[in-house]
Amino acid sequence: MVCKDIKMKYTDTRDKSVSTDFRTAVMSGMNSKTGGLYIPTNIPKLDSSFINKNPEPSFREIAFNMAKPFVEGEIPDDDLMAIIQDAYPFTPKTVPVDKSAYILELFHGPTCAFKDFGARFMARVMSYFNRTENGTLHILVATSGDTGSAVGSAFHNVPGLDVTILYPEGKISKIQEKQLSTFTGNVRALKVKGTFDDCQKLVKTAFTDAELRKEFRLSSANSINISRLLPQSFYYMYSSLVVRNRAPLDTKLEDASIVCIVPSGNFGNLTSGLIAKEMGAPIRGFVAATNTNRTIPDWIATGDYNARASVETYANAMDVGAPSNYERIKAMYSLDEVRKMMASFWLDNAGIMASITDCNTRTGYTIDPHGAIGWKAWDVIRNGGFEALKNGVKNDISKPGLTPNLPEWADEVINKNAVGIILETAHPAKFGSIVTEATGREPAVPETLQAVMNLPDMAIPIENNYETFKEWLKANLSK
Ligand SMILES: *Cc1c(COP(=O)(O)O)cnc(C)c1O
Repeated sequence: MVCKDIKMKYTDTRDKSVSTDFRTAVMSGMNSKTGGLYIPTNIPKLDSSFINKNPEPSFREIAFNMAKPFVEGEIPDDDLMAIIQDAYPFTPKTVPVDKSAYILELFHGPTCAFKDFGARFMARVMSYFNRTENGTLHILVATSGDTGSAVGSAFHNVPGLDVTILYPEGKISKIQEKQLSTFTGNVRALKVKGTFDDCQKLVKTAFTDAELRKEFRLSSANSINISRLLPQSFYYMYSSLVVRNRAPLDTKLEDASIVCIVPSGNFGNLTSGLIAKEMGAPIRGFVAATNTNRTIPDWIATGDYNARASVETYANAMDVGAPSNYERIKAMYSLDEVRKMMASFWLDNAGIMASITDCNTRTGYTIDPHGAIGWKAWDVIRNGGFEALKNGVKNDISKPGLTPNLPEWADEVINKNAVGIILETAHPAKFGSIVTEATGREPAVPETLQAVMNLPDMAIPIENNYETFKEWLKANLSK
């Protein structure tokens, strides 16, 4: 439904009678009454004249036009444009690596991971709304690796905002830990003796703690916040338009179907892709690609959703056993619709290592462990994976590989009329030792990463216990 001049309303995944504005959805993060997540009540389509431009509009133009209907009446156009310009001094890059694969590099922001796109928009929107509020807004965020540094970096020195990051001690890469533990001022990190899911649980419990909420203004910055989810849709639109316009030259296919392959953990990124598709991005389908934490591939294959404890993998920013955005996907689509739109695939550590090597050997491209799962997924799919399923091969979902469902667009791949966009979610240097082992060469470290390696470690150790966490907050946060 298109409602151009009506202010967007946001509802709740657990209670569809909820109807609120963007500001409330952003500032509260999640609905503390129901524990549900905010979603827009409808997703407007962009004008086809805008989408059909060739050459495509710039990334910022796309960002502005996509954000506008979601904030209309709450953020004037000029302010929205200023937010977008300030948030995005960098752009995504779409790199062709062979005849039917593009790599969408999302690591050109300050912390070298795709989460900069969401976090930087969110920080500026929160700061914009917070100008007319009293007192500090406290952001609590659990991170499996890259969220924390993206959020910390995006909010650092933003007046009126204060950030506490929780991460699982010893379960993230050295560079990731360094990026998190070296913030000062209004940003700090707590290293929790537990897993990412434990961190997420501590944060979620704090949000539903009435006593704590009375004392502090709390908000979240995980992908559960709608203002992180919406901006991630910008690069799907941008990149699908880039590929649509250049694929005829690169591939000699006039009207290739575009498939986005999304390395996923909490499934915020993939949910953003679904939003972009609803808004008119020329994306035919998606591949949900995970590591051994295969809760969603199992759900797509069997129809049973079983959240479980997360296990550690080389693609650690995806070590999520209970993905938050499952709830959004479920609220937006039936299982049947999901199966028509998405293939799903998972890979273990040995497969990740082999895929980094394979991508490098065949294309010369150095991919990180997260993107490597996407590379392998697309390679299996375009080299007979779908044919096998169509011919009745029953893949065992407990083994790495494609789950047995065939999406609606399978024949377009089988008929060699599809191209893949593999989302490269982090810079390979963030996972230097794995990438070096796989390729035999150390990836070059970007300057921004080099700089943090020399800063002192300021992280605060904390037990995995809600009461301890709560007491720490009460004793240390400013009112
Ligand atoms: C966070 C992250 C992911 C997973 O994204 P979700 O939105 O949680 O699915 C994948 N790769 C990298 C490098 C990440 O930082």
